[in-house]
Amino acid sequence: MTATHVNGVAVIADEAAPSPLSRPDRPVSFPQIRRLLLEDDSETYGCALCEHTDPALGKVRYHLRSHPERVVSRRSRRADVSADVSVRDLVALARSAERLRKERDEWRQRALKLQRQLATAHRALAP
Ligand SMILES: [Zn+2]
Repeated sequence: MTATHVNGVAVIADEAAPSPLSRPDRPVSFPQIRRLLLEDDSETYGCALCEHTDPALGKVRYHLRSHPERVVSRRSRRADVSADVSVRDLVALARSAERLRKERDEWRQRALKLQRQLATAHRALAP
């Protein structure tokens, strides 16, 4: 059960914590980590399986390892799929960056070759 109080301050709302990979068109969240809004307007993160809380999302993620019994829900599987898609996007981006680098190198070679031909033509035309 997620914490209902953090250091004596009541939790007034909670939602699945958004992943740093989350984008408006492709939301990714951690269903087992809750983002908690406290009565004093501060926010913290809480484990969905126990009352552990920490202001650092990463520490709650690390804490989840202490729950070997944690069940992979349909929602978290979907979040995993979204994360995979993001990885695929990253790979595609890396490939297109590689292609652009190759194209840039080809253009550089052509520019250098033309520069040399131009220099040769200048020398030929020089008095
Ligand atoms: Zn926990």
